[in-house]
Amino acid sequence: MAKKMHRNLFLGLTLAASLLVTPTTYASEGGHGHEGQGHEVVAAKAMSPADTLVAAIKGNDNFKGHHDSHYFDAYQEEQIPGLTVISCADSRVHTSLFGMDPNNNIFIIRNIGNQISNSEGSVDYGVRHLPCKVLMVMGHSSCGAIKAAMSNYSRETPGIKKELNSLRKVMLKDDGKGSFKERWAKNVERNVDYQVNYACKLYNEKVKSGEMAVVGAIYDFNNLYGKGRGALVITNINGETNPNKIMNDSLLKGLGNSDLINHVSSRAPGEKW
Ligand SMILES: [Zn+2]
Repeated sequence: MAKKMHRNLFLGLTLAASLLVTPTTYASEGGHGHEGQGHEVVAAKAMSPADTLVAAIKGNDNFKGHHDSHYFDAYQEEQIPGLTVISCADSRVHTSLFGMDPNNNIFIIRNIGNQISNSEGSVDYGVRHLPCKVLMVMGHSSCGAIKAAMSNYSRETPGIKKELNSLRKVMLKDDGKGSFKERWAKNVERNVDYQVNYACKLYNEKVKSGEMAVVGAIYDFNNLYGKGRGALVITNINGETNPNKIMNDSLLKGLGNSDLINHVSSRAPGEKW
């Protein structure tokens, strides 16, 4: 099984490298992208439904063209991911941030506000049936769901209201101090803490025995934590939010000091939001 995983990882890295030198024309074909910046930016709102669909299908041709049929051999019959991620559905947040091939490596569940209770069955599947050894609750900077939950969303659809209502408990911890932007950022992290605690109760036996870990993280593309844009910042491990204790957690022993500094929230415990 380990050999299989290594093969997946190797193929993933090969794929990542091949994609890096083969930039998609998705943005430029629509005529609205930011060309020449070396990355995809699609002005999706300006694209018609037909253009959007055709771009997606052509994109799949691009994907298919970079994978020979042997690539799929490794997971024809079963999946063996090690990581379950509950992420926000936000289009700025994708598994590409992990820098590995997500296929067969990451079991990802997405909804607005990265909430376990709104997709509990899917999270259960990743944790109890696959079973993944790490459940990561991943919030992100500028989360629209958190912003909406902080605001009056009474005119939203019943479906949206239902999914935002479950964030009310998190908003109760908002003390109203600071600017809206500061409170927004704090509430993103409060939500991650809330979801981690929820998961720790749900999978109490597995967490206590060390069979699995629940990790809280923020994907920060605004550099709010000072780790650089695009950094994955670890803010919680199994309910522990003290950065010094997180840095010393055995789960992170494979990281060097600079990695720890670059990926663990550096706030002092007294500054806990
Ligand atoms: Zn979000």
